[in-house]
Amino acid sequence: MLITMDHNQTDLTCAYCGNPGEITREHIWPRCIIERVPSYNTRYSKSADKVFGAELVIRDVCVKCNNGVLSKLDSYICDLFDRYFHRHPQPNTTVRFEYSFDLLLRWLLKISYNSARTTDPNTPLRIFREYILGTAPYPSESVSLALDIVPPVEFITRGDGIKRTLTPDWMRCGEAQLVPSASSWCIIRFVTLNAFHFLVLVTPVNTVKVDESEIRRVLSSIPGHPVYPNRTHIDAPVGKPSISRMHMHHFEAKKDLYDAHSSRSKGRKKPLK
Ligand SMILES: [Zn+2]
Repeated sequence: MLITMDHNQTDLTCAYCGNPGEITREHIWPRCIIERVPSYNTRYSKSADKVFGAELVIRDVCVKCNNGVLSKLDSYICDLFDRYFHRHPQPNTTVRFEYSFDLLLRWLLKISYNSARTTDPNTPLRIFREYILGTAPYPSESVSLALDIVPPVEFITRGDGIKRTLTPDWMRCGEAQLVPSASSWCIIRFVTLNAFHFLVLVTPVNTVKVDESEIRRVLSSIPGHPVYPNRTHIDAPVGKPSISRMHMHHFEAKKDLYDAHSSRSKGRKKPLK
């Protein structure tokens, strides 16, 4: 089953190239990632404020973009998944992360743009359409990237006193609000592939004058290691076990929705004989 975000049924131009054409469904998470993570079977949609098992898709991308350049970006990220994102790096280690900066950032912006359009068809991330398609150079003034690698965390269950390990098995993307004061001039998008938590800092408009010290303050408050555009690898230290900081506030806030989905899913399963 698919959940389609039809935010504008009458506008049948492509959200990327702007051309009219045959419009297709674009998966927000690539199929190759979904196939690699069968446990990723519970999704939350901010626009619907619902939790469900269906795949999230958006229907405003033309065949040419979807099956061409965007599909190539998906292939690249699935290669990275096989090399890195399926792993759970241990604390106090370093991961040598090799990357092709433009392919990586263009994919991160693509999933962010797709996700943002489900709640705002005119999202400021529209300015990156040409860069995502590979027809414009890296807009270094408007976007930068950091990577936070999160280790498993050990905890003791209150009831039975048994020590357990929680591994960061999350596939999420959305808008982070790490620094509330920065919300007037920048957008921080996150894309999490298990332990690999990417933060994309976007400053889409130049109409707001921001003090240099404020920019430095915001940059220093963003966790993770910078991913440099002019390099092909970084040695990223595995960060602090910050799973709760990143995701638990979301799951706590939406606990009723997740519990209801879990009950529905169990109800559909056949009873054991
Ligand atoms: Zn197109």
